[in-house]
Amino acid sequence: MKEKMPVVFVGHGSPMNAVEENEFSRGWEALGRELPRPGAILAVSAHWVTDGVRVCSAEKPRTIYDMYGFPDALYRASYPAPGDPALSRRAAALLGGREDGSWGLDHGVWSVLRRMYPAADVPVVEMSVDANASPEALFEMGRALRPLREEGVLILASGNVVHNLSLLDWDRPDGYPWADEFDAWIRDRILAGKYGEALHWQDAGESAKKAFRTGEHFAPLLVALGAAEGGRARTRNEARTLGSLSMTCYLFEPEKQYDH
Ligand code: ZN
Repeated sequence: MKEKMPVVFVGHGSPMNAVEENEFSRGWEALGRELPRPGAILAVSAHWVTDGVRVCSAEKPRTIYDMYGFPDALYRASYPAPGDPALSRRAAALLGGREDGSWGLDHGVWSVLRRMYPAADVPVVEMSVDANASPEALFEMGRALRPLREEGVLILASGNVVHNLSLLDWDRPDGYPWADEFDAWIRDRILAGKYGEALHWQDAGESAKKAFRTGEHFAPLLVALGAAEGGRARTRNEARTLGSLSMTCYLFEPEKQYDH
């Protein structure tokens, strides 16, 4: 029997983390070494927002450069991991979603995987964020994906808990107080195992009003929470940067199975 896989949520932040040596990219490298090796990865990206959920079915997903005005080094990087059409079919069926061969891997996914699995030798299937899904529906999508964890599939959700680009301060290494507050509000609930409370993020009050203007970077967290079930959550890269970005990642480990 295959080892049940954990679920990971990654705060991806700036695309430059794909090529820069910094505390965040080093954290992703460490995470890749720490996790059991997946047979394949199903990656939910904040950078693929569709009407209804879609699953990329490309056999050789292309590296998508969906970021503008960055240094050349970023556009020279690529991530030639293979796809996994059988997993695409299975995930689309579990989700009641559509397969879509036109997509590939956008920077929400490849910037992170390039550091976690630099050899690009684990097949990757990307899935979108459904623009019309409620928080509850996103959580349910995660629940629907749970069986994949028993099949060696790592569910990796990539977004940011705090993501307000209109308030970014490129000179600020840390976060605004309200960004720290919202990130901590979410963290406290997740670490207490109260995943359902994160669906009601507005309850965090004033900080929630600034945390993001559109929900696509938060949505992957809700899919991850649905997939995570019980088990134990831990944080990685727990930090805010550029004022209004949270880099906090969550690792959801399976509940230990004991022999009777
Ligand atoms: Zn992003």
